[in-house]
Amino acid sequence: TDQDPSQDFIFRSKLPDISIPNHLPLTEYVFSGHRDGDSTTKCLIDGATGRVFTYADVQITLRRIAAGIYGMGIRHGDTVMLLLPNSPEFALSFLAVVHLGAVSTSANPLFTQTEIAKQAKASAVKMIITKSCHVHKLTNLQQLGVVIVCVDDGNDVVSLADGCVSFRELTQADETKLPKPQISPEDTVSIPYSSGTTGLPKGVMITHKGLVTSISQKVDGENPNLNFTRDDVIICFLPMFHTFTHSSLMLSAMRTGAAFLILPRFELNLVMELIQRYKVTVVPVAPPVVLAFVKSLETEKYDLSSVRMMLSGAATLKKELEDAVRLKLPNAIFGQSYGMTEAGTVANSLAFAKSPFKTKSGSCGTVIRNAEMKVVDTISGVSLPRNKPGEICIRGDQLMKGYLNDPIATVRTIDKDGWLHTGDIGFVDEDDEIFIVDRLKELIKFKGYQVAPAELEALLISHPCIKDAAVVAMKDEIAGEVPVACVVKSEGSKLTEEDVKNYVNKQVVHYKRIKMVLFVKSIPKSASGKLLRKVLRAKL
Ligand code: AMP
Repeated sequence: TDQDPSQDFIFRSKLPDISIPNHLPLTEYVFSGHRDGDSTTKCLIDGATGRVFTYADVQITLRRIAAGIYGMGIRHGDTVMLLLPNSPEFALSFLAVVHLGAVSTSANPLFTQTEIAKQAKASAVKMIITKSCHVHKLTNLQQLGVVIVCVDDGNDVVSLADGCVSFRELTQADETKLPKPQISPEDTVSIPYSSGTTGLPKGVMITHKGLVTSISQKVDGENPNLNFTRDDVIICFLPMFHTFTHSSLMLSAMRTGAAFLILPRFELNLVMELIQRYKVTVVPVAPPVVLAFVKSLETEKYDLSSVRMMLSGAATLKKELEDAVRLKLPNAIFGQSYGMTEAGTVANSLAFAKSPFKTKSGSCGTVIRNAEMKVVDTISGVSLPRNKPGEICIRGDQLMKGYLNDPIATVRTIDKDGWLHTGDIGFVDEDDEIFIVDRLKELIKFKGYQVAPAELEALLISHPCIKDAAVVAMKDEIAGEVPVACVVKSEGSKLTEEDVKNYVNKQVVHYKRIKMVLFVKSIPKSASGKLLRKVLRAKL
């Protein structure tokens, strides 16, 4: 770290920097290319019902919902939780909240009551937009004064009986009652949750400036890195509550005037049927989807010739899978992007650029425009040249402002020179392509979903028969990684593997469930008490 910063090996995109209008509030930036009167171009398509919202529909509806939310007392800087499955309502609620200058925090609707309450309290949520089937998990929050909005319409007896506000009523609010929002670029726009390089999930403060920068880095300019166009139909089955889906994909689609076709969940045959029906051109995927697609014997039954791009992200994708998918979709470009909640998209394949570059299998793309990247030695912190693996660091306006109410975690992640340390190990080759080879941080990725070991460890040690515990990742063919618990029993305890699993697994959403328990005599720790996960991982 004593190295002269001017001697750092800094990597930049092969594409030239562009001028980014990141002084604009998010919704103004996203829709600035589309006139309100654009009532012919499709913006959102509900894959479940066939409903269509044009760009004009989306803009008027988001303003009405914003007015409705304002009427319910939500003001600039207040936080609203979106607890919704993939749906146009998710998209419209997100846009309405941020248009108002309020802050969106999205959570997995399948979270348990405790998981929802933790996030809602930590981010001081004032309103939750959800579906009636989740209301029973919100009664405690409702008693604390949180307003619950139900997407099921006003005819839904359950939602009204529970004292919920009807979403449909909000969509009919008078938009002229909405005062002009006063939003500054540094205002927080959303708070996704991520455990970052260590510890429990934390609120990640993304600003209007950060998010506008992140979208612009991908889709603006003469030769956009991600060449979405008005003619594209982008299918969305990745979970919208994840920031990659609603911020990176959805907003990039809207900025370019593409259609965003939303499916509530991933079902391969339905996806292929919709690709055929809507002539889908862009298919964003995560590695388990690639695996299902490659293994499917039914792909021949569908006409998938409209697909021109398939992009994978969220977790490591094996080179063999990438090669196999290319054989199945010979006319489509396949590539990866690599990103992190705290950093937006870090790298994108330049095979997706308007004037594309040839790229290699296994590469996660090239660092995004208007940003800097370096690779540092994990012990000395010294920056490394090409082809030397180390921790990937990124710098630019797209980064988070910091962790909510956690200045210590913030300075541990973004150093004094503005570099965000990703906790991922990778290298940059002679063609500026990035390869991720390992993960320094403790995060476990189950099918691309975040599992924070610290969260499971806290649950484990709350059991009276558990003296100490550690959770580590084990490789898995389908999920990529699964959480495994190493447990030290209290003296004389007859605790079984099933007891441990039952205790933890009923308290967490399905992908955080412990898959295996190893009983050990002690948890290896360094002299300073730091858990030595590598030693445990080696045992597996
Ligand atoms: P999240 O904040 O949930 O988006 O998770 C970010 C983490 O997922 C990164 O720091 C990586 O560890 C991992 N990740 C994301 N994209 C890739 C990729 N293309 N290849 C390997 N790991 C990835």
